[in-house]
Amino acid sequence: MKHCKVFLKPKKEESLLRFHPWVFSGAIQSFEGQPEEGDLVEVYGANNRYLGIGHFQIGSIAVRILSFQQQEIDQAFWENRIRIAYELRKTLRLTASEHNNTYRLVHGEGDNLPGLVIDMYAHTAVMQAHSVGMHLARHQIAEALKQILGDTLQNIYYKSEATLPYKANLGSEDGYLLGGDVEDIALENGLRFCVDWQKGQKTGFFVDQRENRSLLEHYAKDRAVLNMFCYTGGFSFYAMRGGAKVVHSVDSSAKAIALTNKNVSLNFPGDPRHQAFAEDAFKYLEHMGSNYDLIILDPPAFAKHKDVLRNALQGYRKLNAIAFEKIKPGGILFTFSCSQVVNKEHFRLAVFSAAAQSGRSVRILHQLTQPADHPVNIYHPEGEYLKGLVLYVE
Ligand code: SAH
Repeated sequence: MKHCKVFLKPKKEESLLRFHPWVFSGAIQSFEGQPEEGDLVEVYGANNRYLGIGHFQIGSIAVRILSFQQQEIDQAFWENRIRIAYELRKTLRLTASEHNNTYRLVHGEGDNLPGLVIDMYAHTAVMQAHSVGMHLARHQIAEALKQILGDTLQNIYYKSEATLPYKANLGSEDGYLLGGDVEDIALENGLRFCVDWQKGQKTGFFVDQRENRSLLEHYAKDRAVLNMFCYTGGFSFYAMRGGAKVVHSVDSSAKAIALTNKNVSLNFPGDPRHQAFAEDAFKYLEHMGSNYDLIILDPPAFAKHKDVLRNALQGYRKLNAIAFEKIKPGGILFTFSCSQVVNKEHFRLAVFSAAAQSGRSVRILHQLTQPADHPVNIYHPEGEYLKGLVLYVE
């Protein structure tokens, strides 16, 4: 197949030669042909050197490279990439576990599939395209999933209305590409979660906190726990299983609180230790007492772009400062940031300032990140997005 060509400005090929998968629009010298958003384009450097093939986008990232080799992006390509991703999850022992049926099968650049996310919930794959190119390839990708996963796959839900560039005007509608109308229960470390991929946030569940939730269970015994930004209640049930005295789950979304309560009845029906509140985080933290000795802060991404980084860091500082001020002596704080543009050092600095403001003695017990089914491509360090600190507050 013939593709449009993209020629880079002098010296702009270096990041591609180091396998970084993005071409920024400012690096482009000229085009051969007129690519439309979502088209496959070939990228060339000095002396017509072939650098790779990828999806063309309108925006600051102009091309997301799918392959650095001269190859066609056909059905065999998709099957190969998805097979590699699946083999990795097998290696991680996530595909056939008695206690887990929930994992990320494709993590964008981390699986050399920039712009594509696929989460598995039992027999359902929830697929999310973040680029028009991936949107256009969705049926090929669905076919590849069927080939690789076989009978274990009964449903594919395509959910990209909120993640595709709005301006592309694709009129994309969320819906099933295979099967349909099911309610799979996700199993995570033996706990059960009702996942609403149709109306819920992201793909329906935050798979990336699996190991961090497990660690929390270890610290929960006899503690009074506040799970702030609880969404489906993930951390709360680990705390309950770990022997917490009381667990309060808070989220500003009433739908999230309804899901949390549904999940309480799946795991700990009628357990009086749990209560859930639909309230804004800052309001709740301001008026709550000082009785909690295990607090989780897992806010949504405060910064989605580089230009709002300063405000985001302020937000993290403010949030953590209230927690430091109110947590009981001997308390443990699990604090997270999932903003990609906030790096480890930024986040640590924000939490450090919050601690200093409170004047408490604080020690770092653990430094947390995303689990191995959200792998970081070594050539794309931006893929390391989840940061967490577990702190002991005297
Ligand atoms: N900890 C969760 C994931 C949190 S996602 C888990 O383990 O699954 C972030 C959550 O913060 C969302 O559910 C969102 O509804 C909630 N949220 C966003 N802004 C908020 C605010 N100002 N106060 C309280 N909750 C908020």
